[in-house]
Amino acid sequence: MNNLIISKKFYKIILPNKNNIDFQKFSPSTYLKFKKCPKQWLLENILFDEFNNTKYPSLIFPQSLIGSAIHKTIEDLIFIMKDYQCNKVNDINWSKVKSSIISLKELFIKNAQEEILKYLNNPRNKRSKEDYEIYIDDNIQNIVFKIKTMASKLKLDNTKVNSKKQSTKLNFELINANLSEFKISSDKLNFFGYIDFLKINNEIIEIYDFKTGLEKENDEKQILLYSLIWKFDEVHNPSSRNASKLTLAYSNNDKEIQPLENTQLNKKADELITEISNLKNIINNKSFEAYPSIDNCKYCNVKQLCNEHWNFIDENKLDLSNINDNSVNSNIEVSNLSKEDDRWTATVSHSDIFKKNQNIIIENRGEFSLNRDILNSSKEVRILNFNYYFDNEQQIEQNKIVLNKFTEVFQFK
Ligand code: SF4
Repeated sequence: MNNLIISKKFYKIILPNKNNIDFQKFSPSTYLKFKKCPKQWLLENILFDEFNNTKYPSLIFPQSLIGSAIHKTIEDLIFIMKDYQCNKVNDINWSKVKSSIISLKELFIKNAQEEILKYLNNPRNKRSKEDYEIYIDDNIQNIVFKIKTMASKLKLDNTKVNSKKQSTKLNFELINANLSEFKISSDKLNFFGYIDFLKINNEIIEIYDFKTGLEKENDEKQILLYSLIWKFDEVHNPSSRNASKLTLAYSNNDKEIQPLENTQLNKKADELITEISNLKNIINNKSFEAYPSIDNCKYCNVKQLCNEHWNFIDENKLDLSNINDNSVNSNIEVSNLSKEDDRWTATVSHSDIFKKNQNIIIENRGEFSLNRDILNSSKEVRILNFNYYFDNEQQIEQNKIVLNKFTEVFQFK
């Protein structure tokens, strides 16, 4: 799918058809996203006719590729360990696991290669296969360390049940099982989620959430939501047993979260049911508000489609005197584009650096020819992730922006 035609089509600003919303149930992350900014949820969950009824492609980074490949590696490892009745790293059957995977590094590289193929198919991808491979190579020691640390935390039981994410066969009450990337779901709560590692026996139910990045504010909320979905999973937990241990497993430490008691769980469930019914009303009425803020919009995948964001940046100019580097990355909307030699001139419509209606120069230093094509054939564009160079000491006001390899230029239809 990553050919020039698809990419060109993608870089047009398309207003979504709100009748095309793909909503069944919330996952903890989509629910938290909805609360943060309903409009972002809408734009990320709507199906776009232009992209064969798929969701809007996300921005991609090598760090997220590594995170997904580490998760897949742990998922595969648990599956293989179960297959060989190996309950922990270095136990009596570990040698069988080793001979199957060769090494944790090899298992990771296999998964990373699969992720690279997915990334290369994303129309927003601007890196080559080699770029990703070099990035992985440069970070491989740290990656293998993270995987080894996570693997050392796996203490499996002698249970027969083994499954991977794709399995739909386990549609019965789970009493004894060790599962990786396991889908739990509750009709009562209107929620589903994938648990990284779920360990169940007669005495205990343990939920592990493996975190490959830094600790985030929502991590605790997320694992508590998993325990709630598990409690009310009508298929896998009809006896409504409570999770007894919740672990956020970071690469350098574990954080145990106190599981909620029955009364707390029931109270939370009632609150959530009311809240979800309100959120469903928003979806049915198609009244999605935007909550622009510096934190919310910074990493938003769909800001190019969100008018509120562009009005917000006009009112929230960057304070360049507080920036130590002599360059900053930003976004801009311009009109009256016109080519002059090897650069373009344009008038500012929305910016957190320049004044409205100011004339600016656009230089394209990236080798990415698609941006050049779009600039040549447009009058009005939104540009994400350009560089603005300035000199705080000399206080010379530049009126030039520079596009780099990762700049995206979106054309108004
Ligand atoms: S750009 Fe900001 S306001 Fe707009 S959808 Fe994204 S997070 Fe919400």
